[in-house]
Amino acid sequence: MEERKKFKVAVIGAGPGGYVAAIRAAQSGQPVALIEKEFLGGTCLNWGCIPTKTLLANADVLHKVKNAHLFGITVGDISFDYAQMKTRKDQVVEKIRKSLEGLINAHKVQIIRGTAELISSHEIKISGQTNEIIEAENIIVATGSRPKDIGAFPFDYKKIHDSTSILALNALPKSIAIIGGGVIGCEFASLYAELGVEVVILEALPSILPLETKAVSAHLTTAFTKKGIKIQTGVFVSKIETTDTGVKVHLADSVVESEIALVAVGRALNVNGLGLEKAAVFVDEKGFVPVNDQMQTNIPHIYAIGDITNKALLAHVASHQGIVAAMNAIGLKAKMHYEAVPNVIFTHPEIATVGLSQEKALEKGFKAVVGKFPFQALGKSIAAIDTEGFAQIIIDQPTGAILGAQVVGHEASSLIAPMTLAIQNELTIESITETIHAHPTIAEAWLEAALIGTGTPIHFPPQPKKV
Ligand code: FAD
Ligand code: AMP
Repeated sequence: MEERKKFKVAVIGAGPGGYVAAIRAAQSGQPVALIEKEFLGGTCLNWGCIPTKTLLANADVLHKVKNAHLFGITVGDISFDYAQMKTRKDQVVEKIRKSLEGLINAHKVQIIRGTAELISSHEIKISGQTNEIIEAENIIVATGSRPKDIGAFPFDYKKIHDSTSILALNALPKSIAIIGGGVIGCEFASLYAELGVEVVILEALPSILPLETKAVSAHLTTAFTKKGIKIQTGVFVSKIETTDTGVKVHLADSVVESEIALVAVGRALNVNGLGLEKAAVFVDEKGFVPVNDQMQTNIPHIYAIGDITNKALLAHVASHQGIVAAMNAIGLKAKMHYEAVPNVIFTHPEIATVGLSQEKALEKGFKAVVGKFPFQALGKSIAAIDTEGFAQIIIDQPTGAILGAQVVGHEASSLIAPMTLAIQNELTIESITETIHAHPTIAEAWLEAALIGTGTPIHFPPQPKKV
C-alpha cells in the first residue's frame, strides 16, 4: 500500500480564508496541503468580491462618461456592450486565479484538487480529481458559503437567479426584481441601475441595509431613489413564479412583475458532507462552526475560519482568521479580534463603516458624540464634482477615544483605512486633529470631522465643543 502523505497543516477550501492560512502556515517551513474542489480563490475571487467589483468598475466609467459634459468634455452617443463587460470580468478572474496558483506554489504549499471529507480527527479523504487519504497534525476548515436555496424560489438560473448565476449572463434584462436589500442586493441594484436596467428592491425589513446605522441606510435610500431604483421595504416575498415573459414576485397583497429576479436573501454555510461529525467537531444548530479567539473548534487541533464561523461574511475577516489559525497551528500564539473590522458596500455612492455606530455606542453605555463633515464642503470633492455624502467619527466624549466611523461617498472604500488603523490602535480624536493631512484630498474629511467633534472647525461654521 502506498504510504500516506503527512502534513503539519491541511487546509480545506482555497478561498480568501483557506489560501491565506496555507501560505502563512507554510512560512514555518513545514509541509502544508491546500485542498480545493473547484477554483482557487473561492467565492470571493470567482463569484463574489472580484467579479462584482470588476462589473461595478464598468458602471463607474459609464457614470463618469455620462457626466463628462459637466467637465466641459463632449462625447458622442454613449453606448456599451454588456457581453464585452462580462468577458472582461471573466478575464480578470482568470488572470488573478492564475497568479494566485503561482503564489501558492511559490510558498511551497501542496495544492490537492478534489473534495475533502474528514474520516477521523487527523485523516482527510480526498475524492474526485485526486483520490487519496492524507494525514495532518492540524486541520483548518475553510469551506465557505453558497447562495441560500429557498424552496419558494424555484431557481432556474434563466429567469430566477442567485448571485452566482447572474454573473454568467451575457446580456442585460430590461427589468430586474431584487429580493433582499442587504449588501449583495444593493450592490447589484447599483450596478444594474447604472447600466439602464429598471430595478426594484423588495426588502422584508423596514429599510434597505437594515444592519447599517440609520444615517447610512437613509442616505442610500435617497441616492437610489434619485437614480430611479424603486424600493419597497416591509414587504415579504413569499413566492416567485416564472411566466412566458419573465417572473411574478408575490408579496402579501400584490405582485411585482419583471423580466428576471435576483434572490439575495443570505448565504448557506458549507458544513454538510464534510465529515465534521467523524472528527467530533461541534456544529451549532444554526449551521455554523463555533470557534474560540484562536480559531480552534471544540477539537483543539481542528480550526475553522471564514464564512463557516458566521462572524462576518467578509473576505478580509476570513483572511485574518486564516492567519490567526495558521499561526496557532504552527505553534505561534495569535488571537482574533473583531473591534476594528471595516465593512464596505460598493454601491454608488460607496459606503464604508468600522467600529461602532452612535446608536450601538450609546446602547453599550458610551457617551458617544458625532463629528460629521459633508463632502459638499471639501475642496477636492467640489473640484471633482463628487460632493455626495459625508464622513463621520463616533467619539467617546469623556476620553476622546475613537469608537467608530462611517463614510458615504466617493472613495469611501479606501477612506475607511485610516479609521480602521485608529480604532485598532485605540487612538483618540487628538491623534487625528494633530495629524497633518495632505491638501487637497478627500481624506481631509476626517480631519474636518475630528475638528467639528472638538468644537474647533476650520472649514465649517462654528460648532459647539463635543469632546
Ligand atoms: P469561500 O470563499 O466560500 O471559499 C471556500 C472554498 O472551499 C471554495 O472554493 C469551495 O469550493 C471550497 N470547498 C468547500 N467544500 C469543500 C470540500 N469539501 N473540499 C474541498 N474544497 C471545498 N466580501 C468582501 O470582503 N468584500 C466584498 O466586496 C465581497 N463581495 C461579495 C460579493 C458577492 C456577490 C458575494 C457572494 C460575496 C461577497 N463577499 C465579499 C463575501 C466573500 O466572498 C466571502 O466572505 C469570502 O469568500 C469567504 O471566504 P471563505 O474562505 O470563508 O470561503
Ligand atoms: P444579507 O443577509 O445581508 O445578504 O441580506 C439579505 C436581506 O434579505 C435581509 O435584509 C433580509 O431581511 C432580506 N430578506 C430575506 N428573506 C426575504 C424575503 N422573503 N422577502 C424580502 N426580503 C427578504
